[in-house]
Amino acid sequence: MIRDFVGYQSPKTKSLKLLYSLIRKLGPIKVSSLTEMTGYKHTTCVRLIDELVQAGLVYDSGLGESSGGRRPVMYVINPTAFYLIGVEITNLFTTVLLLDLNLKILETKKLKMDSQSTGEYTIDFVTKSVSELLARNHIQRERLLGIGIGILDPFDEEKGVMTNSDSFVAGGWEDLNIVDYLSEANQCPVLINNGTNLAALAEYRLNYSKENKNIVFVSSDMGIRCGMIQQGKLISNKNEMDDAFGHMIIDIHGQRCSCGSYGCLQAYSSLPAIREEVVKRIKRGETSYLKDIVNDLEEISYHQVLEALEKEDPLCLEVIKEAAYYFGIGLTNLIYLVRTDIVICGGTLVPKPLFFDVASEIAQSRMKKYPNSPVKIIKSTTAYHIVAQGAGCMVLDYFTEELLS
Ligand SMILES: [Zn+2]
Repeated sequence: MIRDFVGYQSPKTKSLKLLYSLIRKLGPIKVSSLTEMTGYKHTTCVRLIDELVQAGLVYDSGLGESSGGRRPVMYVINPTAFYLIGVEITNLFTTVLLLDLNLKILETKKLKMDSQSTGEYTIDFVTKSVSELLARNHIQRERLLGIGIGILDPFDEEKGVMTNSDSFVAGGWEDLNIVDYLSEANQCPVLINNGTNLAALAEYRLNYSKENKNIVFVSSDMGIRCGMIQQGKLISNKNEMDDAFGHMIIDIHGQRCSCGSYGCLQAYSSLPAIREEVVKRIKRGETSYLKDIVNDLEEISYHQVLEALEKEDPLCLEVIKEAAYYFGIGLTNLIYLVRTDIVICGGTLVPKPLFFDVASEIAQSRMKKYPNSPVKIIKSTTAYHIVAQGAGCMVLDYFTEELLS
């Protein structure tokens, strides 16, 4: 039945889809709450839900509490009615997850990207992993709903091709239509989206969809990116511009940015900017233990800067504090613009000392101007596989939600 939720739908199928979507989002939920929300008659609602139960898509969780009379039936979706594959491809790793419909990770496969990992080699790894994951978990292929892919590098959505794969060690990505190649090999729907969007989607579905409609996911690593959920829907912005948040200007007389402008957030709060500032200050004579561990200051790697931060190297702490200050200003601008309820911060810098605390404090202090519009600024908790989980989530959403086109 779930496959009928895509494409042309009869009015009845539309109603089944809506009920499934509400049970997915709000379950465990009573029939009376569903009738209230949909406006369907009680008998119609019961009959439709029964069809969903018969199809194995939803069931009574047994969690209803009796208030004297009969225990109310509380519906939830059946997480193992179908399965999803979520993939994240980056220049460091390719991750393949087998997920149930609650986005629970059942098993993970990982490929370390090296000189061997050309486009075809990597996609063949994904195909091989899909077969292995299904076989090892005794799942028949028809119960796989589809494969979702998350990519951080820019790509052409229509052609399914990465448009800039320079950061990948091995070649063979330029003309490879990832979507066609994978769907042919696996005979199932394959969807692709930007990694930051997918992180926002997974955070929303896993943690916030019951109470909030608007969330923003931001991350600061090599680039500064953001993905958005508005009114419960993923805003699929232009892929090429996923790092545009980093090029928001926060000081018109500021530092030169890699894009040619002056004073972009990227020039202050990204990993390359932080590293550059640390190197510059050591060259000027400031002390840091990093000075003693390299022969040439230009050799200082991102990794070493992050390590120095964890060891609370005073110079690195000072630089990160400044980077976080600017990030907090950028966050405030973003919050003012999109008026979100929640901002989730992910990326390499967030778990390191000071960065998150300073940035969120700066943003919160500026929000005092609007005391009746509180914004929660939160660290991403499920960071590690969040993009691949979001990729799987996108497949389920494709079948069960009304998507923005
Ligand atoms: Zn810039």
